[in-house]
Amino acid sequence: MPSVLQQLSAGRQITSMRIALECSTTATSIRQGPAVQAGTDPAWFAYLCPAHTEDLPGWPGAAGAIGGDSRLGCGVVLDYRPTEQVLQSHADLWLTPLTGVDPQTLKHFWYDVLDQSNRVVLARLEEDGGEDGPLQSLSMMLGMAVQNASEGNLFQSLVPLAYCETVSQELLPRPGLAPQ
Ligand SMILES: [Zn+2]
Repeated sequence: MPSVLQQLSAGRQITSMRIALECSTTATSIRQGPAVQAGTDPAWFAYLCPAHTEDLPGWPGAAGAIGGDSRLGCGVVLDYRPTEQVLQSHADLWLTPLTGVDPQTLKHFWYDVLDQSNRVVLARLEEDGGEDGPLQSLSMMLGMAVQNASEGNLFQSLVPLAYCETVSQELLPRPGLAPQ
């Protein structure tokens, strides 16, 4: 019997697996994004536990019960959108709020967006004295994303960016998130 995940994916390739919030509870509900195009499958699925079902304002969509055993943790997001749309989502949700670098002013040339963001983070790290912490982890992974982009591989850059997104949660205020 196919797993819930296989049924939902229906043979589609996941573009990126993201952790939109860190929670150790198993998800019981699933929220889905709008269709990628009219009449197609949802752009993303977000897995949430009872305490967080109404959280994640950055991921608006209808929530429903998971019809089976998903075994996925709360906060996992399976993103099926094209690479450039996932990059835009990273910019909207944390990269631009954190660094002030706006893709629109750089004509969505993603190497420049990532490179400039990385410079902002490096400068901030230097101000902080380069101490171990979330900013250092973020800087390291953002550097990898810049490297991937410089090689023309934006799809690959989504892997370190997903890690950056998780780490950024320690650096950005998260209004309206229920305490665990
Ligand atoms: Zn949760």
